[in-house]
Amino acid sequence: MIISGKELALSLKQEMAQEVKTFPEKYGRVPQLTVILVGEDPGSVSYVTGKAKASAEVGIANTTIRKPATISEEELLGIIDELNNDDAVDGILVQLPLPKHIDPDKVIAAIKAEKDVDGFHPMNVARLWLKQDCVLPCTPKGIIKLLKRANVEIAGKEVVVVGRSNIVGLPVSKLLLNENATVTVAHSRTKDLASVTRRADILVVAIGKPKFVTADMVKPGAVVIDVGVNRDPETNKLCGDVDFAAIEPIASAITPVPGGVGPMTITCLMENTIECFLRKQK
Ligand code: NDP
Repeated sequence: MIISGKELALSLKQEMAQEVKTFPEKYGRVPQLTVILVGEDPGSVSYVTGKAKASAEVGIANTTIRKPATISEEELLGIIDELNNDDAVDGILVQLPLPKHIDPDKVIAAIKAEKDVDGFHPMNVARLWLKQDCVLPCTPKGIIKLLKRANVEIAGKEVVVVGRSNIVGLPVSKLLLNENATVTVAHSRTKDLASVTRRADILVVAIGKPKFVTADMVKPGAVVIDVGVNRDPETNKLCGDVDFAAIEPIASAITPVPGGVGPMTITCLMENTIECFLRKQK
């Protein structure tokens, strides 16, 4: 089975659009997401465009603030401060990566935790690990939704997550733990990675290396979630961290790249913006 994030994302966005339509009457306005884009990195421009497009589909008001790569850290922090204090803004997102002279940790921490729709603020990270109400990071949240929609049982399963970044590997491990899986986190220093990944009933791969996971690393019947977004060095087309053609025949379910985890990330960003908006209405 191929788990289509594209299809699930579409249906979730349609449901959200119906909900958002009721907001002007209930609350007097729709949610507002402000995205800050520093510089003109083509990858970042494309992500920001995708976020604006998804916002339009859902009916969320989206503002993109574009600043040159030469902007000072102080000026950027000043913009964030203004947005934090603007009651009409529900979600703030600074597109990463930032130019080298700007400290991303400082920038993320400057965004009010209640408006941190990416779920990267230290307070949201802490609340996630403490199992408290928080803004969940989008990609890990999307992965759990994909597994649930595909009726994959998580509780009691042996899960291996390859990658331990703050954005994907660690938070998805914690969410899977919360779903009562037994979770192993592998990384670049893991010895004999294949023997670890072969134990997995559910294998989540977030490394950033094209087609790194080969068929001999996967247990037949495993569910494989491929988070990676890479360029295939041979074809220059988008591909995941997993050799899809080789693994699809032996996996019980697998996410494709593109069209798997990626569309769910943006969809969860929309959901987080709505959640931040609704928390303010209470
Ligand atoms: P990072 O570079 O921050 O982390 C990569 C992780 O992979 C590290 O923990 C690293 O281990 C581990 N790793 C690297 N090489 C190996 C190896 N040979 N064997 C085992 N582990 C290894 O990446 P991200 O987590 O930010 O992203 C991972 C991928 O997911 C990228 O392709 C990125 O583009 C994609 N991505 C996709 C998203 C989506 O929406 N679909 C969203 C976010 C990311 P160590 O810690 O030891 O260095």
